[in-house]
Amino acid sequence: MLKDLFLNVTIIISVISVGNQLLIKEEITPSSSLKLRLFFSSMAGVLGILLMVNGVQVLPGVMLDFGNIATILSAGYCGFGAAVITGLLIGIFRLFYAGITFASIIAALTAIMIGLGCGYIARIVASKFKKWVLMNIFILILPSISFVIILNNKLFLFKTLSIYWIGTSIVSILVYYYVKYLDLSRFLYKEYQIYSSKDPRTGLNNVRQFDNELNKMIKGLRDDSIIALAFIDIDLFKKINDTYGHQNGDKILEDLGKILLSSCSYSDIVSRNGGDEFSVLMTDCPRDKLLEVAERIRLAVQEHKFYLLNGQVISITVSIGVAIYPDTVSDINLIVEKADLALYEAKRAGRNRVIVDKNALV
Ligand code: GH3
Ligand code: MG
Repeated sequence: MLKDLFLNVTIIISVISVGNQLLIKEEITPSSSLKLRLFFSSMAGVLGILLMVNGVQVLPGVMLDFGNIATILSAGYCGFGAAVITGLLIGIFRLFYAGITFASIIAALTAIMIGLGCGYIARIVASKFKKWVLMNIFILILPSISFVIILNNKLFLFKTLSIYWIGTSIVSILVYYYVKYLDLSRFLYKEYQIYSSKDPRTGLNNVRQFDNELNKMIKGLRDDSIIALAFIDIDLFKKINDTYGHQNGDKILEDLGKILLSSCSYSDIVSRNGGDEFSVLMTDCPRDKLLEVAERIRLAVQEHKFYLLNGQVISITVSIGVAIYPDTVSDINLIVEKADLALYEAKRAGRNRVIVDKNALV
């Protein structure tokens, strides 16, 4: 019997692991597309059927299985409709597999009612844990009623019920924690994927993504290509942090990220390169436009009302250093260095200005 239990747990874990790989691409919820929910509920149905055909023989002619766990998974992830489909698949297959007998009809009806019941619980209960507990109680009680109807011998009934309750509870607890572990791993994997290219504070590209984008532009360079890089740094930000606190400093960084996005066009690459330094990479747009964007950013920041967490309004300014290939920098590989020098020059010249290399424009 322990061997059967082990086999069933192995089947569940294998199917859930395959499902987990599929969910990495697209997370499934009750509001996912009908196609996805149909696929997922059918997959759960196949799991239920696999568990059924590998059922545990408790007594001569009495088989137990953990197919209902598949219905719980279907209900938990995809909601009511999916649970009903899984329950129906398991119920209908049972009639084919065991033939039409009194016991198989009761078992098939039980599987369908479990689909309905678990689907209903998934719909009305919000907490994942509560949902799982209630659905488990349901899949313990309902089949127990069917065993009472089918089995006349009290000793047989007692043995069957004991094995079903203990077996289902063990398998269910294992599955709950395994699924929870997989959900967390998927979540962390996706977070890692996002933040390997994005700055978590502003949602802009991070410095790694900035490098990737610049390298992509350099690789695709043509004879008539124009690439402009603007480095934007908040003026005296350390003082702002010291005066209003780090949390307010963080809020200003977030707001500045939004200003930059709204001042640039869709094709511009806006990044937070680190600390209070941001950048905008522009390509293949008219030369006067490139400087216009830099000046627009400077003005937008100067005129913006930055709200602190206590509602107080403050103003800040930024300094911007610009380098343009091939106008101010003939070697594209030096564009970062040149823009950085221009930014340094803007700071030195008194801040709140745009500098293209050494030519002050404001
Ligand atoms: P300057 O005009 O010369 O740029 O003066 P500055 O004070 O802005 O000097 P600098 O750019 O060197 O200082 C950057 C400051 O940004 C230092 C650090 O305290 C602050 N900073 C860096 N990262 C963060 C962050 O994530 N949140 C907050 N609140 N502050 C940060
Ligand atoms: Mg600064």
